[in-house]
Amino acid sequence: MKIDKDVKKRWLLFALVNFVLIVLVFGALLAGFSAYVVTAQRNVLQDRIMRYADTLADRGAEELQVLFGSEDAGWEEDPFLLVALYTVRDNGSVGIASRSTILIRNAPALGGRVDTFQKENIGGYGYLTYTVRVDETQRNYLKVFAPYDINEIAEDKISTYAVPFAVAFVVIAAAFSLIWGYVAIKPIVAGYVKQKNFINDMSHEIRTPLAVIKGNLENVLADPEVKVGAVEEMIGNSLKEVDYMTDISAGLLNIVRGQNRSATHKESNLTEVLSEVVDLFADVATISGKALVANLEQCDIKIERESVKQLASVLIENAIKYTEEGDRIDVRLRGTKEGCVFTVADTGIGVPKSDLDRIFDRFYRGENAKDIPGTGLGLAIAAAIVEGMGGTIRAHNRVPRGLEMIVTLKRN
Ligand code: ATP
Ligand code: MG
Repeated sequence: MKIDKDVKKRWLLFALVNFVLIVLVFGALLAGFSAYVVTAQRNVLQDRIMRYADTLADRGAEELQVLFGSEDAGWEEDPFLLVALYTVRDNGSVGIASRSTILIRNAPALGGRVDTFQKENIGGYGYLTYTVRVDETQRNYLKVFAPYDINEIAEDKISTYAVPFAVAFVVIAAAFSLIWGYVAIKPIVAGYVKQKNFINDMSHEIRTPLAVIKGNLENVLADPEVKVGAVEEMIGNSLKEVDYMTDISAGLLNIVRGQNRSATHKESNLTEVLSEVVDLFADVATISGKALVANLEQCDIKIERESVKQLASVLIENAIKYTEEGDRIDVRLRGTKEGCVFTVADTGIGVPKSDLDRIFDRFYRGENAKDIPGTGLGLAIAAAIVEGMGGTIRAHNRVPRGLEMIVTLKRN
């Protein structure tokens, strides 16, 4: 599919908006996820601190004093947590016992409330602390210190995965946006291209006939006294050109319609429709001295009636047009495993080999057709219809003479 500049801009814009939306949604998810990780981590830490504080407090102030002072801890030490025993003396001063030199040296004030978590700064380091009462006299308190920079801990974990993940995500999101954008605009572009081709072809092709008509009319007008009989030829030529323009405008429209219509309204039987078309052409063939022979097997696929009628008409009309008196035209339909094959074979003038590839192009007329009038749109219409039906069409010359058109249609 050829995409022009204007469409490309829209495609990229669509992809960009799409990309930004994906990134925003994902960013929100990521933020939520980090918040969740941070909270979960804090909960785990708080749990650990509380349990530690409770087990130690159960040992009582005297035992803890001894344990803090001895070489051997005498309980399972948590390498991450520091712990201190605060004893409030009678004069109001606070004594501190701990195995941690940092705590002893910095002798932090007891402060804060019992059984709540607090953030404290001791000797320049951040700690999350938790204080419990050790005995009923309420003179001894146990305080647990956890080095605390929860954001740092969480960031650490997140950043290990975050950078490679974010890069991969951005690449995938960009690719997805572009592909999605492409898929979304594809039908629009196809329609746009069809319309553009229609307009281009139309304006190009009507230029010559319009020039002829204009010239003729100017000639007629040059002498207002002249009788119609004297300018009969000019008027006749003009009318011929008008007919030609009518034909190509209908033909081009049929190409556009053929592509769109044949995909829908599949309700008719292929064999029936073909046999109707053959009947339509029977008289024309007989009058021009050609034998039109049909051999149509029953082949059950559902098709859109008007499209197939037009397709068969184009092929049979050509066969009649490019044959001579005494020639024979065979129209066949047979079923295969995959679908139906419909052929129109004649014993006519055939197509020069060099033209075979191009006869399906719009406005292309073969060397063999120079003396036979036509627009060169028939086979382009046929090809558009077959394409719309998801089938194939091809042509080959027969031995010793004539052309065969083969249409293959898949079962729906
Ligand atoms: P129109 O469709 O307006 O009648 P056309 O017949 O020239 O014009 P197509 O039907 O598209 O246009 O055919 C394209 C060309 O293919 C023809 O000009 C002719 O050269 C060649 N052609 C098509 N059918 C046959 C045939 N049965 N035998 C020989 N040549 C053919
Ligand atoms: Mg034709």
